[in-house]
Amino acid sequence: MNFNFSGKKVLITGGSRGIGKACALLFAEHGATVIITYRSNIDEATRTLSELGDRNDHRAFQLDVADADAIEELFAELTSIYCRIDIVVNNAAIFTEHKIAEVDYREWQTRWNDTIAANLTGAANVCYMAGRHMIKKRGGKIVNVSSRGAFRGEPNHPAYGASKAGLNAMSQSMAQYLAPYNITVGVVAPGFVETDMAADVLGGPAGDGIRAQSPLNRVAQPDEVARAVAIFASEGTEYMTGGIIDINGASYLRS
Ligand code: NAP
Repeated sequence: MNFNFSGKKVLITGGSRGIGKACALLFAEHGATVIITYRSNIDEATRTLSELGDRNDHRAFQLDVADADAIEELFAELTSIYCRIDIVVNNAAIFTEHKIAEVDYREWQTRWNDTIAANLTGAANVCYMAGRHMIKKRGGKIVNVSSRGAFRGEPNHPAYGASKAGLNAMSQSMAQYLAPYNITVGVVAPGFVETDMAADVLGGPAGDGIRAQSPLNRVAQPDEVARAVAIFASEGTEYMTGGIIDINGASYLRS
């Protein structure tokens, strides 16, 4: 596809692996300077950074998106290095199982708190920092990575499904609030994607059934999601703000 991100500075949370990495590679290939964050796996982040090449001043930073202060510190550092951030992709998230019949009450609460802190409050805090920065710079683009689970239910991962439904609602509120400042907010909602996050489920006894949910009889590849992210991040797609793009191979249709 014919993307052009020359001169753009792009921040991707969780950009070291999976979908975030595919986004990083796409943006770098089309001329952007890419900043990836990772939570703890520095080896993977270093490998991804080297794959981005040395054409631009790409960098990697450690960040736990559940840590509000760390997000503020990262934006302070980034704006001192780069002057402006044009595109922010809220991609980092966790996906942990907590079946009501199998976990005790304490674990249930821990899973809910951790998931909401990373997937929803963390993304909202990144939106706050990005929004404040972009208001000053008179424009920008935010893309949030949600999930089919927001619509279809996540019986074994209920906090995850709720976090992504909340992310959709938060993104749409932000799209309305930030539009007068020339800032757009888009959402992509993938079904299963072949990444580490889904590896156990896709490699287990449920894998074939999951692939068969799509009439294409497969799950998505990370670069298929990255292309949808890039559409929201491109010049000329501003009127899509507030939209949610499904990327689920017709495995779950809604109208
Ligand atoms: P992944 O392969 O597990 O990679 C997760 C990335 O996020 C890594 O870079 C990881 O860093 C980082 N990360 C995890 N927790 C973090 C935290 N608390 N703070 C900062 N960074 C953190 O995930 P993925 O499958 O690419 O998923 C990316 C996005 O797509 C997520 O929002 C996910 O919900 C969504 N999604 C995925 C699927 C799927 O089937 N894979 C389906 C629908 C939606 P480390 O490497 O340091 O751990």
